[in-house]
Amino acid sequence: MALFVEIETPNLKYEQPLGLFINNEFVKGVEGRTFNTINPHNEQIIASVCEGTEKDIDIAVIAAREALNGPWRKLPSVDRGKLVLKLADLFERDVNVLANIEATDNGKTVAMAAFDVMGSAATLRYYGGWADKIFGQTIDIDENSHTYTRHEPIGVCGQIIPWNFPILMLAWKIGPALATGNTVVLKPAEQTPLSALYVAKLIVEAGFPPGVVNIVNGFGTVAGAAISSHMYIGCGSERALESRPKWEMLTLATADKVAFTGSTAVGREIMAAAAKSNLKKVTLELGGKSPNIVFPDANLDNALSWVNFGIYYNHGQACSAGSRILVHQDIYEEFLSRFRERAKLNKVGSPFAPDTFQGPQISKTQFDRIMRYIEEGKADGAKLETGGARLGDAGYYIQPTIFSNVDESMSIVREEIFGPVCTVQSFKDEDEAIRLANNSAYGLASAVHTMNANIATRVANRLQAGTVWINNYAMVHQQMPFGGYKQSGNGRELGAYALDNYTQVKTVRQYLGDAIF
Ligand code: ADP
Repeated sequence: MALFVEIETPNLKYEQPLGLFINNEFVKGVEGRTFNTINPHNEQIIASVCEGTEKDIDIAVIAAREALNGPWRKLPSVDRGKLVLKLADLFERDVNVLANIEATDNGKTVAMAAFDVMGSAATLRYYGGWADKIFGQTIDIDENSHTYTRHEPIGVCGQIIPWNFPILMLAWKIGPALATGNTVVLKPAEQTPLSALYVAKLIVEAGFPPGVVNIVNGFGTVAGAAISSHMYIGCGSERALESRPKWEMLTLATADKVAFTGSTAVGREIMAAAAKSNLKKVTLELGGKSPNIVFPDANLDNALSWVNFGIYYNHGQACSAGSRILVHQDIYEEFLSRFRERAKLNKVGSPFAPDTFQGPQISKTQFDRIMRYIEEGKADGAKLETGGARLGDAGYYIQPTIFSNVDESMSIVREEIFGPVCTVQSFKDEDEAIRLANNSAYGLASAVHTMNANIATRVANRLQAGTVWINNYAMVHQQMPFGGYKQSGNGRELGAYALDNYTQVKTVRQYLGDAIF
C-alpha cells in the first residue's frame, strides 16, 4: 500500500500520511495490516491507514528509548523548548489543513476544529516555555550536607488518546511530556487516525530528533493494550530485543509511564495492565457526568447559553459535558421551556456548512449507544422534552435531546452517554443541589450559575469535581489544571500541575564530613 495519499476536503487538497510514524519515518506495520477510517458525515471511507500491532509498539518503544538515552537527553533544555515552540508555530501555520482533517475524520465543524488547533498550539507554546524552567530544590539539613532534588523525566511515555478531540488531546499529552524531557509512543484512537499523522510531518519539520515522538495507529485491544501491558514502557519485549545483548536489555528495562484519556471502563483495564506488567506509572483522564447548577438569581440569558453549550458542544462528546442540569425550583418551568427552545435552535448538519453548530456523532457504535440510552430513558419513564431521534438518513446525526422528570435510579442520570443528551432536574435549596450534584461515581467537572458570590464560592467549595466553572461552562485553558475526582481519573493535565505527571523527583545528599556510623 501507499504511505501517502492526496485527500480532497470541500475546502482544500493535502497530502495525508498513512504509515506508522517511528524514528521520524513513515513505515508499514510489521504485519502489513491496514484499517479504514470513516467520515461520520456520510459514512464513506476516507482512507486506509497502517495498523500497528504489538511488534510495532515494541519497535516504537525501542526507538523512543534510544532517543531518550541519546540525543534527547543531551539536548539543552532551552533547545528542547525551542523545538516545542516551533511545533506550536507549525500548528498555527497549518491551522486550515488540520481543521479540515479534523472536520472530515471526526465530524466536528471546521470552526470548532480550528479552535482546537489553535488551543493545541497554545498548549504547546505554554509547555515549550516551561522546558528551561524546570528545577528542583536545595534543602538545608546541616553544615556537612549538600542536599538537592532534581526533577528528571520519567522516560518513555506511552500515551493513548481518544477520538473526541484528536489533535487537542495529542497536544495536551505531548506538550508536557516533551517539555520535561521524555520521549513518547502515542496511539491515536482508531476512529480518528489522520490528524496525528499530519502532525508527524510537522514534528519532522520542526527538527525533533528521530524517536522522540512515535505515533502508532491501531486498535485499543491490540496496540493500546500492548502499550499498557508493555514490560519495557518500560521496555520493549524480549521478542523485539532478542537480538540485543543482555546488558542492553537491562538498561532498557525500566518502568516508565502510560497516560490515557478515554472511558472509565478502559481506564480500569489500563491501570490493571500496568499493575500486572511492570507497575508503570499511570495517569488517567476518564469519563464524567457533570452537574450544571442554575440558581434563581442567575443571569438567565447567560446561564441558558452556557447550559446549551455545556451539553451540546462537540455534539455531547466531551468528558466534561454538562449532562446533568440542576435548576432551582423557582425558575424550573421557565428555564425548561426556554432551554427547549434554545436547544431546537442549534443547527445540526454538515461540519463544512458555515452555520452548523452540531455535527454527526463519531461512529455507528456511538450512534447506536446513544440511541439505546434514549430508549432506556423513555422506558424508565423520563419525559422527552425535545429531540430523541436520528436526523436525516445518512451520517450519524442525532437531535439535541432533553429529558425531564428523571430520578437518580435512571441510567440516563447515572451513566455517561457521550452524546447530545441531557437531563434536567429541580432542586429546592443549596444542600439539595449539592447532594444531587455529588451523587455520582464521577467527578470531572461542574458549574454553578448565580450572581451571588457567596453562594457561588460555597457551592464551588462543596462540589466534588476537578473543575468548577462559575457563570461559564467548558472554559478550559492551557494554564488551568484539568482532571478528575473519584472515578474520573487521577493526575492533572494542563497547567504547571501536568509537569508533575512527567517528572520524577530524585533526592541527592552529598555528605561533606567524615563517616558518622
Ligand atoms: P471510546 O469508548 O469513547 O471509544 P475508549 O476509552 O474505548 O473510548 O478509547 C480511548 C482510547 O483507548 C482509544 O485510543 C482506544 O483505542 C484505546 N483503548 C481501547 N481499549 C483499550 C485497551 N483495552 N487498552 C488500551 N487502550 C485501549
